[in-house]
Amino acid sequence: MFIKNGYLDIDELGERMPSEERFERGPVAILECIQQIPCNPCQDACSRGAILPFQSINDTPTIDMDKCNGCGNCISACPGLAIFVVWKNYNLESSLIKLPLELLPFPEEGDSVELMNRKGEKVGIGKVIKIQKTKQNPKSRVIWVEVPKKLAMEVRHISRSNNHDK
Ligand code: SF4
Ligand code: SF4
Repeated sequence: MFIKNGYLDIDELGERMPSEERFERGPVAILECIQQIPCNPCQDACSRGAILPFQSINDTPTIDMDKCNGCGNCISACPGLAIFVVWKNYNLESSLIKLPLELLPFPEEGDSVELMNRKGEKVGIGKVIKIQKTKQNPKSRVIWVEVPKKLAMEVRHISRSNNHDK
């Protein structure tokens, strides 16, 4: 539980969890933001109107998954690092996750990286496909990482330490 442990349990996602039918249609943003705090830059960052207007600045965000194309622009706009894009069926074996990274040094495209779950536990090895710089936060990067498909809803952080061990 987020309040108790400081990380989200997957069953706390509720309606933020895309259906398998939506996953079939391609990449989609998952807003892992469940705390009521005065914050809404994610909505301004989405030019497609997929993040619905807030009734109050303290609302948690709501997404229209039919409007979302998984571009990832909202990821680097989120100060809470709480937005991820999951392209579950990237290919037969792998999913693609777009996740925020603020810590230097950034990895490079093609790097192998350690994959970590919401608790910070290492769960596997992935490959960096692309490093995306966005105008929403030029100091951070959106990392596109290929992961084993079974880890699509687990991996939420990466670590470069695997490269340093080589
Ligand atoms: S991934 Fe792109 S389209 Fe989807 S909610 Fe974020 S900014 Fe909007
Ligand atoms: S920007 Fe991030 S922390 Fe702020 S409301 Fe949107 S998802 Fe939540």
